[in-house]
Amino acid sequence: MTAGPDGPEDRLRRFATIWSRAVFPVTSTSLTRPELEERLLPLARRLSEALRARDFDADAGKEVGAALVDAHCTDPDALSHSLDCVDAYLVLYCGEDGPQEDLRARSSRLQHAMAAGYAQALRERTLAEQEAIAQAALNAQGAVALALHESEARFRAVFEGAAIGIGIADLEGNILQVNGALLRMFGGSEHAVRERNVQDWTHPEDAPQVWRLYEELVRGEREHYHTEKAFYRPDGTVLWTNLTVSLLRDADGQPRFQLLLMEDTTERRLLNLRLRYEATHDALTGLPNRTLFFERLEKALSAGEGQRFGLCYLDLDGFKTINDSLGHAAGDRLLVEIADRLQSCATAPGEMVARLGGDEFVALTTGPETQHEVDELADRIMNALVTPVRIEGRELLVRGSVGIVEGPAGERGPAEVLRSADITMYRAKSAGGNRYEMADAEADARAITRHGLTTALPAALDRSEFFIEYQPLVHLGDGTVRGAEALVRWLHPQHGVLGPDRFIPLAEHTGLIVPLGRWVLEQSVRQAREWQERHKDKVGTGPLRVNVNLSPCQLTHPGLVQDTVDILERAGLEPDALCLEVTESALIGADDEVLKPLRRLAEMGVDIALDDFGTGYSNLANLRRLPVSVLKLDRSFTQGMQQFPADPVDLKIVEGIVSLAHGLDLTVTVEGVETGAQAEQLRLLGCDTAQGWYYARPGPPDRLHELALVDATG
Ligand code: C2E
Ligand code: MG
Ligand code: MG
Repeated sequence: MTAGPDGPEDRLRRFATIWSRAVFPVTSTSLTRPELEERLLPLARRLSEALRARDFDADAGKEVGAALVDAHCTDPDALSHSLDCVDAYLVLYCGEDGPQEDLRARSSRLQHAMAAGYAQALRERTLAEQEAIAQAALNAQGAVALALHESEARFRAVFEGAAIGIGIADLEGNILQVNGALLRMFGGSEHAVRERNVQDWTHPEDAPQVWRLYEELVRGEREHYHTEKAFYRPDGTVLWTNLTVSLLRDADGQPRFQLLLMEDTTERRLLNLRLRYEATHDALTGLPNRTLFFERLEKALSAGEGQRFGLCYLDLDGFKTINDSLGHAAGDRLLVEIADRLQSCATAPGEMVARLGGDEFVALTTGPETQHEVDELADRIMNALVTPVRIEGRELLVRGSVGIVEGPAGERGPAEVLRSADITMYRAKSAGGNRYEMADAEADARAITRHGLTTALPAALDRSEFFIEYQPLVHLGDGTVRGAEALVRWLHPQHGVLGPDRFIPLAEHTGLIVPLGRWVLEQSVRQAREWQERHKDKVGTGPLRVNVNLSPCQLTHPGLVQDTVDILERAGLEPDALCLEVTESALIGADDEVLKPLRRLAEMGVDIALDDFGTGYSNLANLRRLPVSVLKLDRSFTQGMQQFPADPVDLKIVEGIVSLAHGLDLTVTVEGVETGAQAEQLRLLGCDTAQGWYYARPGPPDRLHELALVDATG
């Protein structure tokens, strides 16, 4: 890895520094803070790599947790400080280029694994210590039998001074002796422990094998066992321990006593529970979060035969407006209220509600009957939203859109199901919101391709996947090529060549149309200049021109005029060699503000064409207002002239439009001319230029050059 002034390595180092500062005050290590940092650095690296790995594996977190114990960071605070630190800084310093939400989910799983690895390592360490003490006790006990005073004194010292709880009981379970540590664990009262029987210590959470192991031990069939065990303290609270029970034999090898060693794990257990809770619940609403929801969904989807699942994916309509107008505090209160209501919609076993983030919630139902249950669930959710929410004295009307997915377990993975629900929810939203929709595989597939294309668009422009084809514009009077319309295409790495109808609407939607449109303009203008260079000697018909389509969004972009001027100047093309095509619908009802840039361009000499004319029902009288010099008659008119003689009504209409256009000093171009008969008819009607397959399909720029040459000589 190379390290720039602020490279990944520096950020990793900074993360390790912060971590060491957080943990150092609570470690019992002999290391200095910088030394501790050196030990944490590889752990930070391990987390960082796991965070960004292609295939995520939370085990790295376990290793890191265990390594913390190795580094003597054994105080419970050392763990919680470490987790806080990972939570706050790991994604920040090590995940700058990934999708933040995924990274956060990974980070929380890593934290969870860290806590688990930490607890496990600590436990193993404690067991090893217990083993050592048991050994000492055994040695001492041999010595007791031999009445070796010295040895017994040593045993006493271990017994009384140990931080671990130690007790001795006979084989009937009667407790004979306990040390101070054990007494303290039970709250300090002697009689709660002394002269009791071990068998009084059953607890509902005892592992099933615990008492069997006990029986084996007191019968002399086993030397010791380890277990995690809960005890009731005299005040009713619960003490959790790591318990080791060993059998003590006399000099002849006969079982005599049992030795109990216990370590208090209550705090650690609570910490673990709290961590688990925090890692799986949403802090604002207390609902299960994305992580827990995915766990449940995964389980539901891998349930056995006959099991089904139903999922409602809810997104509030217009939540952003509430947030923006009333502030985030009000937005938060609204979310809490909605979360409460949703929670009460899913109370049956097998049902759950979770918050995925922002204003997105999910409700899950599982079992064999989800086909109708999920509908009822969706109804309950919609009903829960009906009553307005009162916040700061206002009644807020809350609406939501729900996407429903239902199906048998075992067919799809959680990510796929959630994506389908998400897409369906968007379908409900774009149908006006305040409704639910059922998922449908075909609609999903369409949306997924559309979504895939949309997300691939920006990179496509950077990777030069777009190219332009040119379709000649031919003068109907003398058949000469006067120019060409630039038509953009996308050479998609998977889908092959895509026509503009597939991606222009997406580019308009995402705003990419502005840079894409600028690129098309730049290329086309440069191309026109090149044609002119090659046709310098040609006389009579004037220089070759280029037509470029403009999207409505480009019209309102403030840079339009300046960009166009710059592009023309840089290429050295006269403005009158450029024609910008704007669809009729974009200009209907356009106010003067919108027309201003077009007017500026027209004043400079750029032609403006009204594209697809005749499809937008514009008021013909309106044409006078527009800075337009060309009408492009839509293909639908040309289609009516396939036969000769053509439909007389069509002819009349076209004739009317042409004479009106000429009366207003507009040139008329016709689109979609596919036969010679059409061309002849349109020429008779007085149309000026034509474009269509009859002359040429859209093609590479050199083709135009050839066509133009043929016309010049032929
Ligand atoms: P348009 O501007 O009306 O372009 C004419 C369309 O008619 C082109 O489709 C062309 O290939 C097609 N066409 C030409 N001659 C014939 C014919 O004889 N018969 C038939 N049936 N069709 C013919 P294309 O290339 O698919 O473009 C579709 C639309 O995409 C264009 O309609 C234009 O509105 C838009 N578009 C194309 N390039 C761009 C661009 O660079 N920017 C923007 N904003 N829109 C573009
Ligand atoms: Mg066009
Ligand atoms: Mg058109």
